[in-house]
Amino acid sequence: MSSFIETYNCRLGSVNPNKYLISSREDLSRCLVSAELAHHNEALLDIATRVEFLSEIHAQIIYHKEALFEVYSTESSLGRLRFNAEFDRTLKQLNAYRDAAIALSIQKNKSILPDRTISKKPMPLGPIAVFGASNFPLAYATLGGDVMGAFAAGCPVIVKGHPLHAGTSLLSAKLIYNAREKLNLHPGVFGHVLDDGFDIGQTLVQDPRIKGCGFTGSFSGGMALYRLTQNRKDPIPCFAEMGSINPVIILPNEQGLSIHLNSLVQSITTDAGQFCTKPGVLFCPNSMLPEALKILDYAFKKAAPHPMLHPSVQERYHCKLEEITRNFDGKSYLSTEKEFGITRGFFQVSIEQFLKNPSLQQELFGPTAVIVAYDTSDELLRGLAPLKGQLTITLIGENPETSVFFKWACTHAGRVILNGVPTGVSVVANMHHGGPFPASTDDRFSAVGEASIQRFIRYVSVQNSVST
Ligand code: NAP
Repeated sequence: MSSFIETYNCRLGSVNPNKYLISSREDLSRCLVSAELAHHNEALLDIATRVEFLSEIHAQIIYHKEALFEVYSTESSLGRLRFNAEFDRTLKQLNAYRDAAIALSIQKNKSILPDRTISKKPMPLGPIAVFGASNFPLAYATLGGDVMGAFAAGCPVIVKGHPLHAGTSLLSAKLIYNAREKLNLHPGVFGHVLDDGFDIGQTLVQDPRIKGCGFTGSFSGGMALYRLTQNRKDPIPCFAEMGSINPVIILPNEQGLSIHLNSLVQSITTDAGQFCTKPGVLFCPNSMLPEALKILDYAFKKAAPHPMLHPSVQERYHCKLEEITRNFDGKSYLSTEKEFGITRGFFQVSIEQFLKNPSLQQELFGPTAVIVAYDTSDELLRGLAPLKGQLTITLIGENPETSVFFKWACTHAGRVILNGVPTGVSVVANMHHGGPFPASTDDRFSAVGEASIQRFIRYVSVQNSVST
């Protein structure tokens, strides 16, 4: 194994010039010792300190915007528009957590009984390990929701940076170090390690000094880390936000098929379909199928080409497509665009074909979807049966809330979209980003929106306190 990480620019088809040192176990050990000390010294317990820290990180991010863009775009091949959206979202999220921390600290919470009073105090869990995903180098990474949510809760954080955007992660870490130094905070409030394998990350989550884990990424990665945290002598909460296939149900009463399908294709192909909320399977009434196929085929062919994040992501995607095609008895409408060589399009199957091919029922991380034709509601319910917990479910049609599928959607997803597209997660108080397993390991909590700081808080009741 090499001791450096290289990143890749898929737009240029070349390796980036900078190399990043892989952390050793000794580096990790130093971070852990320091994080534990920071927690014991209550480095982030004081609410004013937390607010100052988050505000200073906010200022650092704004000041270094262009430097962030440069490294972000060369490592991920994501463009300016996407960067701006993620950048704004990162700042908005940070502000929301800061405000939520303030709100939590001033909440008066006292039960008055005849012979005693009981008050409740939010406490930071302790040092938190965070793993981000490859496809959000800002919003689900070192400056992302899990890290800022844990700070807002008063917890020190150790990030295992993503190797596909190692430079972005290191620059992000530097901005947090700058803020920490400027405010003269304990060095252990933040640590950062890099690895090109699993050793450092797995050691991190098993260390007894770590008290919680925030993960965003694949099902296999999330479950590997979740199992490790649950098999510790002292199991800890592990909030793994994973992928899903995000079903879309087109109802038989739909009147504006063309508008919706064009929006859906845009949602499937934007940034080469590398979104956890990308719609991956569309259920369409048989009566609308001929028209739908024409619209979809045309829309996919005219969609703007976009490179993938990394050659390894691209290779995995094309291998999965090949695997599906090999065991496939439906029709495929796939074509490979010339600029970056990415295959896009859709598979068309009947309910029966969908049911007998499990690989069509799983997330395909790239610009493809499956269209499944159905005749009756019963047939559709049979087709939906193998689909487990989802991040999102979308219903398209007239008054979808009155349909029986609305109830099904609410029990199977963290977010239900009516006549819209699932990509584009707004950072607002009422956002729930998560979903029943296997979309996430704990769907009572959200990874986005201010409620997410609750994941890193424990409560203590104090009887007869005079201060609250
Ligand atoms: P990934 O391969 O699971 O990587 C995420 C992080 O976990 C990386 O740091 C990775 O380290 C680490 N990791 C993976 N497997 C591990 C293991 N067995 N042991 C220890 N560490 C492990 O995911 P990705 O490719 O970056 O992201 C794509 C996936 O994330 C898609 O499925 C997408 O849907 C999902 N996603 C979900 C959300 C959400 O909010 N639910 C948001 C964005 C993306 P290495 O890189 O060193 O392997």
